[in-house]
Amino acid sequence: MVFVRSITSVALLAALGIAVPAVAGSAVVAAQPSGPVSPVGSDSRVVAANRPDPQVLAISIDALMPRAVRRLGRDRAPNLWRLIDEGASTLEARTQVELTVTLPNHTSMVTGRRIKATKGGHGVTWNDDAPGRPPTVQAAAGHDVASLFSTAHAAGRSTALFATKSKFSLFQRSWPDDLDRVTIKEEKDAVVVRKVVRDLLKRDRGVTFVHLGAADKAGHTKGFMSRGYLRAVRRLDGLLGTILEATDTDSRLDDLTIILTADHGGVPGTRDHGDAGARDDYRVPFAVWGPGISPADLYDLNPGYRDPGKSRPGLKGKQPVRNGDVANLALGLLGLDPVPGSRFGVKRSLLVTAAD
Ligand SMILES: [Zn+2]
Repeated sequence: MVFVRSITSVALLAALGIAVPAVAGSAVVAAQPSGPVSPVGSDSRVVAANRPDPQVLAISIDALMPRAVRRLGRDRAPNLWRLIDEGASTLEARTQVELTVTLPNHTSMVTGRRIKATKGGHGVTWNDDAPGRPPTVQAAAGHDVASLFSTAHAAGRSTALFATKSKFSLFQRSWPDDLDRVTIKEEKDAVVVRKVVRDLLKRDRGVTFVHLGAADKAGHTKGFMSRGYLRAVRRLDGLLGTILEATDTDSRLDDLTIILTADHGGVPGTRDHGDAGARDDYRVPFAVWGPGISPADLYDLNPGYRDPGKSRPGLKGKQPVRNGDVANLALGLLGLDPVPGSRFGVKRSLLVTAAD
């Protein structure tokens, strides 16, 4: 039996004022990745095994650029930096290879699949909800496509989706019986976050997925990295703060892990993020924060992953951390197996806890 509670994570919990409960019941043997690379981290399912009631909140901040996080710094984006500093994180995660637009990348986040349908992807290549589009992800792929929602739901966990763009109704149509709650409020980020906090406190959700769109909107109207865009990121940092405050003050959220990433970035000085080959488009942050998560660089914890530097690795060979890792990381944090048919984080699950 493997049981992990690293000194760092206990120290982190103490620093956060979170009580570390006594070990209950039997621990689960972690499925360690096999192969030549010996992991320095432990599987997310170990984290789940240590929590009586694991819950995951995945937050996608549309068009959140690592460049903006750095520019604002800890003074002006304290909550984003809290996730980065206290969590397992990187500012060098990658989007999907094929496209750097919203709906295709979010579909990868919730399915763990690449985009291209003929290569086992989900097939969602469009980025609006215009009439004439395939009505579901399954219609786009040409076959059944499971998701984070359907996999968690099949395991008896409750699921919820909150979004600020109407095109996310695609997920509701694709997994109608697997989403226990769907709330879509066009361009109402603050309203959505208020509802998320209330929902987390009231319901015992296994998985909550949240999309916040204000930074993308500002990028399109005022330019990426413009003052208007940075102002929007600061506002979103404040909304993230209201979620973190709830986790700090309410014991009902003691077992909540937050995953934060983005669908794409944007090219500074332009109003566009559609060039999948542009570094500022394909580079996104990725942070995992919560009880039992080691404060560490994700690439230090995961020698099985490739720190891409400035590059844009393809889908062959060692993979960088990608936004498509959200689905299987979230399931791992719930102690569940990967999404059937998924790709990211299957052969090598993303490690978020330092090994003993
Ligand atoms: Zn956009």
